[in-house]
Amino acid sequence: MYAEVLINLGLASVDRVYVYEVPLELASKIKVGMRVLVPLGKSHREGYVLRFTDKPGVARFKCIIKLLDDEPILTEDILKLAEWMAEYYVCSVGAVLNSVIPRSLRKKRKTCLVPLVDQAQGVAVVQAFGNDKVLDLMVRLWEEGEVDVKEAYRMLEGEVLLKTLEDKGLVARTGRYGLYRTVSTQQVYELGPKFASTELPHLERRAPRQFEIVRWLYERGQIGAQELEERFPRSSVASLLGKGIITKKRVTESPSEQPLLPTSHQQNAIQVISSLVNSGQFARCLLFGVTGSGKTEVYLQVVERVLALRKQVMVLVPEIALAQQMIRVFSSRVGSRMAVLHSGLSDAERYEEYRRILTGEVDLVLGARSAVFAPLNNLGLIIIDEEQEYTFKQENFPRYHAREVAQRRAQLQNAVLLLGSATPSVETFYRAQIGDYKLLELPERIGSNMLPRMQVVDMRAEFKNGNRSIFSDLLRQKIGERLDKGEQVILFLNRRGFFTFVMCRECGLVLTCPHCSVPLAYHRVTGKLHCHYCLSQIHHQETCPRCGSVYMRKLGVGTQKVEEEVMKTFPRARVARLDTDTTHTKNSSRQIIEAMTRGEIDVLVGTQMVAKGFDFHGVTLVGVVLADTMLNLPDFRACERSFQLLLQAAGRAGRGSNPGEVIIQTYQPDSHAIKYVIQHDYPSFYRQEIRFRKSMRYPPFSRLIRIIVSSATERRAEATASELGRLIRELLSGHDESVDILGPGPCYLAKLRDRYRFQILLKGSNQDLLTSVGRYIIEKSRSSNIRIDVDVDPLFMM
Ligand code: ADP
Ligand code: ZN
Ligand code: ZN
Repeated sequence: MYAEVLINLGLASVDRVYVYEVPLELASKIKVGMRVLVPLGKSHREGYVLRFTDKPGVARFKCIIKLLDDEPILTEDILKLAEWMAEYYVCSVGAVLNSVIPRSLRKKRKTCLVPLVDQAQGVAVVQAFGNDKVLDLMVRLWEEGEVDVKEAYRMLEGEVLLKTLEDKGLVARTGRYGLYRTVSTQQVYELGPKFASTELPHLERRAPRQFEIVRWLYERGQIGAQELEERFPRSSVASLLGKGIITKKRVTESPSEQPLLPTSHQQNAIQVISSLVNSGQFARCLLFGVTGSGKTEVYLQVVERVLALRKQVMVLVPEIALAQQMIRVFSSRVGSRMAVLHSGLSDAERYEEYRRILTGEVDLVLGARSAVFAPLNNLGLIIIDEEQEYTFKQENFPRYHAREVAQRRAQLQNAVLLLGSATPSVETFYRAQIGDYKLLELPERIGSNMLPRMQVVDMRAEFKNGNRSIFSDLLRQKIGERLDKGEQVILFLNRRGFFTFVMCRECGLVLTCPHCSVPLAYHRVTGKLHCHYCLSQIHHQETCPRCGSVYMRKLGVGTQKVEEEVMKTFPRARVARLDTDTTHTKNSSRQIIEAMTRGEIDVLVGTQMVAKGFDFHGVTLVGVVLADTMLNLPDFRACERSFQLLLQAAGRAGRGSNPGEVIIQTYQPDSHAIKYVIQHDYPSFYRQEIRFRKSMRYPPFSRLIRIIVSSATERRAEATASELGRLIRELLSGHDESVDILGPGPCYLAKLRDRYRFQILLKGSNQDLLTSVGRYIIEKSRSSNIRIDVDVDPLFMM
């Protein structure tokens, strides 16, 4: 029996795969997807069993030394997926696997010693040592196969002899991985069987802390274990648990909510998708429905049917904040055979979820991007909600897009891929137009809910009329009306601090970060200028460093400024802010979201985050404070992104019984993104956008590969980039197929974290050709010791 083993070298771009013989005693235990210890040259390495093969032509093979896992940690499908990813994204399979397998599964549980030579070969060498201790140890190793390292130390009375044995290639130190149970994580507290409200006054007097906990649970029903444990002392919690006044359990054990009666559009979509899953063949669908049209209900009912077929489901959502809401919805309908994977989990939590999936305790995996690798064997359906979100693309190595990986995975496992969106990416809608995706539409909002009324305010006119506030008269008036009626408002800005830059009114200089050359954002709390890329802080400058003028002005608005303005203008309003500043800890964002849901916040100010997916029924007004900042980014997707974001933000209004309204403030009311968004007209926007893409030969009419060369010295980065550019031109000169080579030139973010960045953009229609160029560049980059990143299908050009 022979096995192909991928040696885990930890290199970004190259893999080494060798064939090893499986010794008889391992033959019954070894499985594809296990980690093994193998000899390599004079030393030994760990590797993954990729597949079993017939004996190849070569005569002699080395043997696998040892299995390092009891059970495979990778499924065959995931291995195939990793091989495809390595090919497509021009990197090594090993690197992909390293990002697929949770870090905690890459730690060994214990270290032990194994023999590298068998008794017949080794006994003479060992005897030549003339040392009984060594002989004893080796004999034990040959008999037992492994010895704990600590035990070996004891037998050899220290480490010196052990080192010698290792150097001579007689033994190897290795370890054992394994799945073990850890603290279970997705747990909640509830009031327990011994809770009695009559005891409360007593508890309040005797143990005020415990009383706090109980009161909190009484109000909220359930509280996440982590949240509660962080807020209260361990002893109070333990004491209440001991007395049975509170209990801890896994999130919602059984479905508590009933399916809704689907509308005819929903019914149609549910029918089509479930019958596709039932047919057991690879298929792709796009569920295109305006916000509030009941896409989530379609997901839920399809999932129920797929689970009834005894198949498994994966649901991918754009980010943690949204995951929380989805978790709640799914767990109240689907029950407990569910695992959750997202970047907010600790290593231990992630490990536990992965373990449950591997051991088949789970039918439904819900998570962010990386959940696409969850080792589900019997996958029937993959859902990607808000498929257009750029968070599905990993922006560091390996730079994969979860949608593309999911598509490949669905194909490998004969599953159905279902994408959902109100504003699909132009690429996806194009695929639906040409028939690659089955298009399913939900054209109406549920019930009597009307789409929100949208209005544009021309900020140039406001300025002319002497209104210097960040709120137009209209927006201010509308906010006031909402507050009087006790309804909620969301104020949205596209990017935190982005517009709070400091500019010289006389010469136009914008203060930028000396390390990153991006505009610095002024923060009131620190009174300093912050760089949001390298996170450095710089003192505010009173005079212009270029012309010496004293008219240095803080311009524009950040979420903080908007928050302050609201508080100043409407002192009685309860205001909260949700952006990456306030959500460093997952708890604070959750608390804000929950307070908003309960109606304890009147005005929520935030960035992208508030535009996405939330279902707050009390919100009747959404104000877009300044649309311009997103329209003007140097990227061919800027318009698409603005349109999506604005429509999504609008979708937050009027989800309850009261109609919603949206006000967009802008200096460019004529842009096509603005024009169509106020009519809720995605198809018209798409038609204009796809014409532009076609005329410029941008995706979906081409593929892009972006090459970024970066170095601490500008000259080196530039020189390497030009050399690469020359090599690529030379390489492609003989080809008929046209590939546009753009650059090299400095990146928009020309300096990031003290590194100068230059880029080359390749644009072409022949995927294989582009990939081979990518591979060629990777080869080149191994010999030059300068950093070269290859980004396949880049989403951002900055
Ligand atoms: P989307 O995900 O498309 O934005 P949601 O799934 O959030 O829309 O649905 C919007 C609202 O409509 C939710 O409050 C949901 O409970 C409700 N809803 C969905 N489908 C139905 C239905 N068939 N009957 C009644 N209410 C529904
Ligand atoms: Zn100046
Ligand atoms: Zn910086």
